[in-house]
Amino acid sequence: DKQMDTKLRDVLAHFALEGGVSSVILYGSGHIHDTYAVKNSQPECPDYLLQRVNHHVFKNVPLLMENIEQVTEHLRQKLQDIPGARPEEEVLTLVPTQNNQSYYHDPEGNFWRVYLLLEGTRSYDIVETPQQAFEGGKAFGRFLALLADLDATQLHDSIPDFHNIENRLRLLAEAVKQDPVGRVAQVSKELGFVQQRAEEMSTIRRLGREGKLPLRTTHNDTKFNNVLLDKYDKALCVIDLDTVMPGYVAYDFGDAIRTTVNKAAEDEADLSKIKVDYDLFKAFTEGFLQETNAFLTEEEVNSLEPGVRLLPFIMGVRFLTDYIDGDNYYKIHFPEHNLQRARAQFRLVEVLEENRERLQNTIQKTSQAYKAVAAEQLR
Ligand code: ADP
Ligand code: MG
Ligand code: MG
Repeated sequence: DKQMDTKLRDVLAHFALEGGVSSVILYGSGHIHDTYAVKNSQPECPDYLLQRVNHHVFKNVPLLMENIEQVTEHLRQKLQDIPGARPEEEVLTLVPTQNNQSYYHDPEGNFWRVYLLLEGTRSYDIVETPQQAFEGGKAFGRFLALLADLDATQLHDSIPDFHNIENRLRLLAEAVKQDPVGRVAQVSKELGFVQQRAEEMSTIRRLGREGKLPLRTTHNDTKFNNVLLDKYDKALCVIDLDTVMPGYVAYDFGDAIRTTVNKAAEDEADLSKIKVDYDLFKAFTEGFLQETNAFLTEEEVNSLEPGVRLLPFIMGVRFLTDYIDGDNYYKIHFPEHNLQRARAQFRLVEVLEENRERLQNTIQKTSQAYKAVAAEQLR
């Protein structure tokens, strides 16, 4: 509407844009921020992408923006040194405000930022073909590879304990103890499922503490729709950098696999529809390891399969906790929605467990094949 349009144009006036604003329209299918495409009135000037950052999810936007500045600068530097790379299209470019800040904080308390709009690109919510899965793996793998020499401890935890399963389990135990809406009796089966796996699911963090897995700069929200593909369906750019912070590579691999190999919805009610599409798994793994195999340690390669089970487990624990708590965090569309989401994620964990050996073999074989190729090239 008119009022909103005026507001958005007022916000845009704080940024150092070239040319003029012709239109501002709602854009994309993100669930977290409000995203708008800004068309330029001058044909020779760029279009922009305006975002209002969700500061309920991200409690410290200035720190998060510092992370994004550091990471995009690092990526740009690295890409400039790679022959044939196109830094303008392969990394997000923040457009500064008139007083050279990376975001604008409006009087109502909202945070706004502007990126260059990457023309002719699109993102997909669902992976349809192995080619797309391969491109997704390549994009997230390359992202990790280019950031492998950025000291992760330089970055802030934009959401503290985001993929910390031990902490998620503590929060679940707390909710069970409180039982604020009397739902615990109804979920004993799910609680048993969690209990049985609690120890094993903490392995990655334990190995990290023991110094056997390195903390790296990871993306932490590696859904397929956070990769922009070009018109030939080739991966161009990894986007949605709000959760970039120190983490383990198994988190990025695991969350990508969670959202790639299961074509059923995240909250699928019919558990028999939850399956592992092996071809998509294999293709993603090949793309991912093509880019990362050279720098991953043996322990990290071994951690990828456990990561695949860990990420849906974490999501299930979070949904279950919210259900027991009385649905405070996730938006629900019907009374038992969070329980249904938890069950779907736990079913996915089960089918991944059933396929465990096959997935582990694929990872190992792919890794060894790339090692052999690299050794051949050295001769
Ligand atoms: P959310 O956290 O809400 O998912 P995203 O940063 O992923 O927000 O952006 C939402 C959508 O906007 C993306 O899925 C993508 O389609 C589109 N998008 C984001 N950044 C750009 C960009 N620089 N150029 C073109 N499209 C973009
Ligand atoms: Mg997104
Ligand atoms: Mg996001």
